[in-house]
Amino acid sequence: MSTGSSDLIIVGAGIVGLAHAFEALANGLSVTVVERDRRPVGASVRNFGHCCIGAQQGELLDIAQLSRAGWLRAGAAAGIWAKEAGALVVARSETEAAVLEELRAERGADVVQLRNAAETAEALGRTEPGDLVGGAFLPADLRVNPREAAPALARWIAEQPGARILWGTAVTGVEPGTVHTTRGPVHGDQVLVCVGHDLDYLFPEAAEEHGIQRCRLNMARVEAPAAFRTDSAVLTATSMLRYDAFTAQPSAARLRAEVSAHSPELLEIGANVMFTGLPDGTLLVGDSHHYEDTTPPFLDERVSELLLDAVAGVLGVERLRVLERWQGVYANSSRGPLLVRDLAPGVRALSVTSGVGMTLSFGLAARTFAGTLKATA
Ligand SMILES: Cc1cc2nc3c(=O)[nH]c(=O)nc-3n(C[C@H](O)[C@H](O)[C@H](O)COP(=O)(O)OP(=O)(O)OC[C@H]3O[C@@H](n4cnc5c(N)ncnc54)[C@H](O)[C@@H]3O)c2cc1C
Repeated sequence: MSTGSSDLIIVGAGIVGLAHAFEALANGLSVTVVERDRRPVGASVRNFGHCCIGAQQGELLDIAQLSRAGWLRAGAAAGIWAKEAGALVVARSETEAAVLEELRAERGADVVQLRNAAETAEALGRTEPGDLVGGAFLPADLRVNPREAAPALARWIAEQPGARILWGTAVTGVEPGTVHTTRGPVHGDQVLVCVGHDLDYLFPEAAEEHGIQRCRLNMARVEAPAAFRTDSAVLTATSMLRYDAFTAQPSAARLRAEVSAHSPELLEIGANVMFTGLPDGTLLVGDSHHYEDTTPPFLDERVSELLLDAVAGVLGVERLRVLERWQGVYANSSRGPLLVRDLAPGVRALSVTSGVGMTLSFGLAARTFAGTLKATA
């Protein structure tokens, strides 16, 4: 283990840690990233790669917009595929369409671009609109390939002067100026702990005080129907029940009652029925939400089938051919979307506790180095 000291030590090479390393270098700091695995395999590679900007509200919207610029800068620097493809929110009932119209009235017609049933059907590759009522295109949203983005960013960071990434090195304890690892101590002026849901292993009290739980999500990669054509992330009614921009609208309560009446099983599994395309033409589809302190290893096939059937329904096809299944886990808390905790002088923990860490990562990093990311209560 080299004993050279850095301006900043970052624990965790997920997207939150790596975005901070990227911004640290841009600010002229030397940085050491310490990661227990040999490559990123956490939440940051298991997600949809959807930088979900238009569906955020309030402060998270501000951070998400800042993050968008960071993703594009990092994409250009590190050769990361970051596509300004927007999101398409599909409406299959008048209530769903009403929520979208209300959001358009609040945000403006440039930010929420309404689509009719035929346009929505065409984007989805459906021959007939069928049950589609309309939709909305949210142009600000970005898409990245989650399997490539964090690894590519890590490779780029490791090549920069003043940066190093210590892979296969687990952090066992942190004190001001020193991070203790399974390969010996690492020294630095400041320490940023970006270990997502695993904060409870290192700092159980901080995690408990913020009420951090593990949220597990069933995901799959499927073959896209031949006619599928949109590059946008595709969201549905259950997505509208989860993101604040939609839940703040007057018709949101009616929408919840409607979904609860026609698809109670989707609410039961905490579904956010959505999908995004990978550059190879396959689709990432999901997801469900279950909250526990410890994640059980078993994937419930009924949950996967409900999600796959729901996505097939949106695409207007009988069934989807599954290529892969997996479980993702992220940090969640009902006490707030972010944990920003100063644990000791020069030691800060930062976990996104709301399932939008891909969206917020670069915005949080920009705020960190601007000195405007305040500790949460
Ligand atoms: C299925 C799924 C879908 C999602 N979809 C989206 C989406 O579309 N859009 C969006 O914005 N967000 C999405 N999210 C949320 C997003 O993926 C997370 O919020 C984000 O990836 C968290 O990043 P992170 O860097 O904090 O965590 P992680 O990617 O989990 O990284 C944490 C890293 O810390 C390392 N680590 C932990 N403990 C130690 C230790 N003691 N020593 C050294 N290293 C350690 C881990 O090995 C890991 O590499 C989704 C999440 C999941 C699971």
